[in-house]
Amino acid sequence: MGESAAVFRSAFRALGEFLRNPRLSSFYRTQPRYLEDQPPFLNAAVSGRTLLDPRQLLAAVQSIESAHGRNRSREVFKGPRTLDIDILLYGDAILSYPELVVPHPGLQERLFALVPLLELAPDLADPRTGRPFRDLAAELPDQGIYLEVEAGL
Ligand code: AMP
Repeated sequence: MGESAAVFRSAFRALGEFLRNPRLSSFYRTQPRYLEDQPPFLNAAVSGRTLLDPRQLLAAVQSIESAHGRNRSREVFKGPRTLDIDILLYGDAILSYPELVVPHPGLQERLFALVPLLELAPDLADPRTGRPFRDLAAELPDQGIYLEVEAGL
């Protein structure tokens, strides 16, 4: 919801507070999945190095979501929202805490996450299987992922 491109730039600046060498992908307009009767989403990926441990990182990204008007208690599940930051990968870590699963459990089936991720890191492989994400992405059917003409920054 809202001016998503502006929200992304603002969130990227906020992430820069605790990321070294932060990089932001292009923005992609994507068809909604799961709950299909809603406007398209805007998606992007960010990469960087951090000194935060995974759970500190989750807390930090959730505070950025809140600072951009995210209020889960007022949302429809999988429906429109101002900003949703997921942790797709944390290096090669494989983690399963109650509040944090890494790699993100939906990653390998979601082109809206894989396409921007592969733009930043085309050679990444799934730490659970060693399979390149580009091979996983190539096997998925078209999911309606469109590069926004406006560049990421
Ligand atoms: P969401 O509504 O999509 O932002 O995610 C809701 C919940 O997913 C959060 O409360 C997190 O605790 C949990 N979660 C589990 N794994 C992850 C992950 N890899 N990245 C972000 N959130 C996660």
